[in-house]
Amino acid sequence: MSQPPGQLTFVAPRRAKPARHLADLSMADRRAAVTELGEKAFRADQLSRHYFERLTTDVGAMTDLPAASREKLSALLPSLLTPVKEQTTDGGTTRKTLWRLFDGALVESVLMRYPDRVTICVSSQAGCGMNCPFCATGQAGLTRNMSTAEIVEQVVSGARALAAGEVPGGPARVNNVVFMGMGEPLANYKQVIGAVRRMVEPAPDGLGISARGVTVSTVGLVPAIGKLADEGLPVTLALSLHAPDDELRDTLVPINTRWKVSEVLDAAWAYAARTKRRVSIEYALIKDINDQEWRADLLGKLIKNKLVHVNLIPLNPTPGSKWTASRPEDERAFVRRLELHGVPVTVRDTRGREIDGACGQLAAAE
Ligand code: SAH
Repeated sequence: MSQPPGQLTFVAPRRAKPARHLADLSMADRRAAVTELGEKAFRADQLSRHYFERLTTDVGAMTDLPAASREKLSALLPSLLTPVKEQTTDGGTTRKTLWRLFDGALVESVLMRYPDRVTICVSSQAGCGMNCPFCATGQAGLTRNMSTAEIVEQVVSGARALAAGEVPGGPARVNNVVFMGMGEPLANYKQVIGAVRRMVEPAPDGLGISARGVTVSTVGLVPAIGKLADEGLPVTLALSLHAPDDELRDTLVPINTRWKVSEVLDAAWAYAARTKRRVSIEYALIKDINDQEWRADLLGKLIKNKLVHVNLIPLNPTPGSKWTASRPEDERAFVRRLELHGVPVTVRDTRGREIDGACGQLAAAE
């Protein structure tokens, strides 16, 4: 299902909800759920330790639980993600997994291991309604929002593979989670915030990943950025800007027709002021579209002296798109221009490109 250019979809056509899972619930709600099942409230803590610390869902192996309780408690650990396909590259240190959800919807996540850290890129929606023309996910349209537990399960499953030593380099833990897979996280706000809480809460409540290691990337839903700033969760905000002028951004990131560059940047600065976190500006460099020096100059002027960092992403190829990455000399000139304004800038590596697992390439087809 492809969307007409510029059309935005906020309401998911599919409303199917997966079964309730431990990871959907706060600890207080877990205790209530366990009590409803006829078990003592402290069983919620035990079950949580198995899931968030030992990364297990096999109730048979939970020997600290009486056999009769295991059966009942297993209702809180339904299987939500079924692996359909796994592709690896970089000697196994980059791995993309295609998951089938209970209703047949498909999503992908990507695990990237670096010498000093592990990053997991997760999906927050099946598809996406934001319709950015250079993004494969955007071209497919929105299928449905993912539940909190469906989002968390992507991280738990990666963490489990790492702990088991399945990823070359020895057993390891997840350091970073980036909401840069399929979907617009701030368009599925409540479920995404729940997932972030499960990720950052220390065990047994959650996975205990540092909030600074979690990045929420958005096309720029201004009211939701304001709400996120009020959550008291110091996660990193990434803003997919891609153009410094409204005329071009209206076409590259259609949400710009609702909230202009100046509005979204103001929201970003307010976020930085509130959280003391450096905002990351994402800018995919597209040959002869948004990579002119004058645009780098304009961008530099708009963001200089702010708590900001620019992440340039060489455009990754997507099916049906006529656009390609910038020439190396244009990329260099763009970087230099930004540096002249004193703006910190890095160019993102193209990890996962060979397996269509890089930014904007997730389309979840079998
Ligand atoms: N919807 C969110 C998160 C998902 S995309 C957002 O847009 O921020 C993660 C990043 O990849 C975004 O910055 C997105 O603009 C970028 N991206 C999308 N398609 C791309 C492509 N073909 N090449 C490079 N980056 C791309």
